[in-house]
Amino acid sequence: MSDNGAAISIRDLVKEYAGQGEAPPKLALKGISFDVPQGGIFGLLGPNGAGKSTLINIMAGLVMKTSGGIEIWGHDIDRDMRNAKLNIGIVPQEIVFDPFFTPFEVLENQGGMYGIAKHLRRSEELLRAVHLSDKRDAYSRTLSGGMKRRLLIAKAMVHSPPILVLDEPTAGVDVELRRQLWELVGDLNSEGVTVVLTTHYLEEAEQLCDRIAIINHGELIANKPTRELVGMMGEKIVAITVERDVTAPPVSESFLKSEKTGERTIEVTYDKSRVTAGQVLGLVRDQGFVIEDVTTREADLEDVFVQLTSGAAATA
Ligand code: ADP
Ligand code: MG
Repeated sequence: MSDNGAAISIRDLVKEYAGQGEAPPKLALKGISFDVPQGGIFGLLGPNGAGKSTLINIMAGLVMKTSGGIEIWGHDIDRDMRNAKLNIGIVPQEIVFDPFFTPFEVLENQGGMYGIAKHLRRSEELLRAVHLSDKRDAYSRTLSGGMKRRLLIAKAMVHSPPILVLDEPTAGVDVELRRQLWELVGDLNSEGVTVVLTTHYLEEAEQLCDRIAIINHGELIANKPTRELVGMMGEKIVAITVERDVTAPPVSESFLKSEKTGERTIEVTYDKSRVTAGQVLGLVRDQGFVIEDVTTREADLEDVFVQLTSGAAATA
């Protein structure tokens, strides 16, 4: 691990993709720095296009960084990619397999690539761990999407790395499989594996991860224990349709924000630890509005981004 005890240490990481044809160059990572502590489940959260896969693919040696540095378990990827790679298992976002190998063969081949002697390979054990023992000898092309993803996790763990990185493990995956994947990730973590996963689902990160970093447009906008971050998301929004056209939105000290969103619609943002939806509606009514319809929602990732990027909270 790094001198500071981090499993992964990222410093001033910049990636600029060269433009192609008419397309201008794209600055996908704008100088990102953070540490992944050992032993936890670390969530890298951000919307599509934020730069998550770029970051993961640089760690995997699939994308060349423009500048900055990464240490994986204390090994600098520029000076010692070999040892960096030995300490990390990465499941990329895209599923790629040779369709003509069986799961058992996939794992054996990977073991061979890492130079692990036959009698020391863990192929059977790994197949059991990802619940694929009964598919041991099936062609990979006959596996379902979920099975392939599980096989990729087993493949990433062939060399028993202390760090496992999963890029969007649950994108396009059904509820049941998602639950299975979470369980698998939890099991690996309780056996001591440091897990890093990327997702664009806030709820998923919230449930799985003990620490969450948020990136947006190639910049790190938060990096906090999940509990703290969730505390910042105590905002709730109530959307109200009223009977008459709105000239000015209602005002109250109890509202964090109040705006007219259409001819007859208003959105009020409030802190749910301070007021209830009922109180908010009461205050709106007190100001002469006749309410026809109401929906409430929790602040979602978008709202949190707005909050994080607009206030002092932006300093992670
Ligand atoms: P995420 O994984 O968070 O969705 P990506 O890292 O895939 O984000 O992409 C970050 C940005 O870099 C996006 O704007 C994307 O279009 C761009 N990008 C990704 N890969 C390439 C590439 N090979 N060439 C040019 N631009 C790229
Ligand atoms: Mg991605």
